[in-house]
Amino acid sequence: MMVPYRTSKRARVPARIAGLLAAFLIAHVPTVGAEKVPATWLEPQEPIRLLGNTYYVGTRGLSSILITSDEGHVLIDGGVMDAAPMIAANIEKLGFKLRDVRAILHSHAHFDHVGGLAELQELTGADVVSSKHGAKVLRQGRAGPDDPQFESAEAFPAIEHVSTIGNGETLQIGHIAITGYYTPGHTPGGMSWSWYSCDKLECANFVYADSLTAISDPDFRYTDGTRYRTALSDFRWSFRIVRNLYCDILLTPHPEASDLWGRLARRDAGQRDALYDMDACRAYSNRARQAFEERLAREMRERRQ
Ligand SMILES: [Zn+2]
Ligand SMILES: [Zn+2]
Repeated sequence: MMVPYRTSKRARVPARIAGLLAAFLIAHVPTVGAEKVPATWLEPQEPIRLLGNTYYVGTRGLSSILITSDEGHVLIDGGVMDAAPMIAANIEKLGFKLRDVRAILHSHAHFDHVGGLAELQELTGADVVSSKHGAKVLRQGRAGPDDPQFESAEAFPAIEHVSTIGNGETLQIGHIAITGYYTPGHTPGGMSWSWYSCDKLECANFVYADSLTAISDPDFRYTDGTRYRTALSDFRWSFRIVRNLYCDILLTPHPEASDLWGRLARRDAGQRDALYDMDACRAYSNRARQAFEERLAREMRERRQ
């Protein structure tokens, strides 16, 4: 079922610099069969209110984020296929109706983040929204050869109806305004999202930043420009985008990549602002950029040998 929503252009936001956070860049664990996925990806996790209308509803090892409003909700990412019932149960556990989820967004079209989307779309009747390239992959149910993990990534249930959103466009549902940014590189169609949530007088800019890791098939080279011609410029674009986002609270598709569990443990222990770090996006981007440049240097060395 398609639901109407409005989009509007929003200017790019300037950089903000403050504080320090070590954003851990955890590589995807290569998998061949479902039995090889890390146990935490299917480990149940109680839903958590992060701030105001923003909730964590994923499993222990894979993020799913719910943003709620009186006129409908937004869900980002659906974990692996078998995680869908857990995510659905978490939404209901919070007291929300699945049929009130109106839009399902995602980070990037790998099976560990979109494997559950087809089932979640069926359960909610929501519109799945993606980038132009991401939509193509979602409809196919698997990545094309331009994905650096084409040979190693698992297929996932295809999604017939996918809407697209442009870079920098804002999706509006009730009082939720969530802006999508194209952040290609890890995949050609990857996206990051930003929105604003408040709890009484406490407000925060949330960023759900896509994976920025250069994980690839063994024979894939970022420097030979064959399978994914714009990989270099795409990654550099994405490092810049993520670095410059207004970012009070950083969330990532793999929760440990932004130390979510450590921050929540500190909040539970009494540090009220433990989720906040206005430098988190910059640090996350910089770490990824450094790892990418090291990867490129390694490829160049290998080519010279
Ligand atoms: Zn991935
Ligand atoms: Zn992943």
